[in-house]
Amino acid sequence: GAKQYAFLGLGNMGRALAGAALAEGRGVTVWNRTPGKSAELEERGAVAAESLEDALRSSPVVVACLFDLASVEEQLFGHADLLRGRVLVNLTTTNPEESRKIGRWAAENGVRYLDGGIMATPGMIGREGSQILYSGEEAVFEEERDLLDLWGESRYFGSDAGLASLWDLAILAGMYVMYAGFFQGAAMVGSEGVKAVDFAAIAQPFLRSMTEFLPVQAQVIDSGSYEHGGQSLEFSDLGKMVRAADDQGVSPRAVQMVQDLLREQIDAGFGHEDFERIFEGFRGGNQ
Ligand code: NDP
Repeated sequence: GAKQYAFLGLGNMGRALAGAALAEGRGVTVWNRTPGKSAELEERGAVAAESLEDALRSSPVVVACLFDLASVEEQLFGHADLLRGRVLVNLTTTNPEESRKIGRWAAENGVRYLDGGIMATPGMIGREGSQILYSGEEAVFEEERDLLDLWGESRYFGSDAGLASLWDLAILAGMYVMYAGFFQGAAMVGSEGVKAVDFAAIAQPFLRSMTEFLPVQAQVIDSGSYEHGGQSLEFSDLGKMVRAADDQGVSPRAVQMVQDLLREQIDAGFGHEDFERIFEGFRGGNQ
């Protein structure tokens, strides 16, 4: 029959992952800590396991999408005997050190481990734009591609189990800081009574087109030189933006963070060099 998969964790994301496998006719057994979340998946052909142990025994490939490291430890570390020789694809969000910890436990117990970082919301699973980042045992990544590719574009980063998480969190760093800057901007015009949705309507096309420059900036960074005649640090000075926020009674702290990075390079004598030089402020940890 069809290959069998066990899905542990039926939160919003776990249900989306299991649902995508069901949609492609795979044999799916599901388990959730709290019962009552599997009705819709069962209607679509999934088997609800009576216990975690039954779920683990049901399939050679176990996909976990729990909450955090603690939930993975709590549910799986006591079941090394049942997981030995099986594949564990863990899509629970963990930081790199946590992923490595699970990877070491897996290696010590003969569990074939692949760690994943999901760059998608549940609604994006199986659709255009969904990417899932993996690291860990490369053979598992290759062998299970027909499952992994059901969820999105699958990318492999290396045998160090922490790498997928590192990439995941690095990408999210860009997202969150952009959001914070957008929120500060919304507060700036909001101080004049502008609704955030009206700000978004005008800011979004501009911000979207600015992301086109990321590869260009990356080339400058990779070149190791910041003298390509781009926008200089002195020209980029964000003092006027900090002042504008202040004058409106809005905290300038999102922009102040960038201004601090800029000033640091200008004070070190690099004011004539390209804006991308602030990248240097991140290397080598806290100054
Ligand atoms: P939900 O809050 O919808 O679901 C959480 C799931 O974790 C539930 O199935 C819950 O079970 C289970 N859980 C929590 N603690 C434990 C535990 N101690 N033992 C066993 N199971 C536990 O979250 P999501 O489904 O959205 O997220 C799941 C994972 O996917 C997270 O690590 C999240 O970071 C990651 N992710 C989510 C994204 C999203 O957009 N939603 C995007 C990218 C990654 P119970 O029902 O029993 O509480």
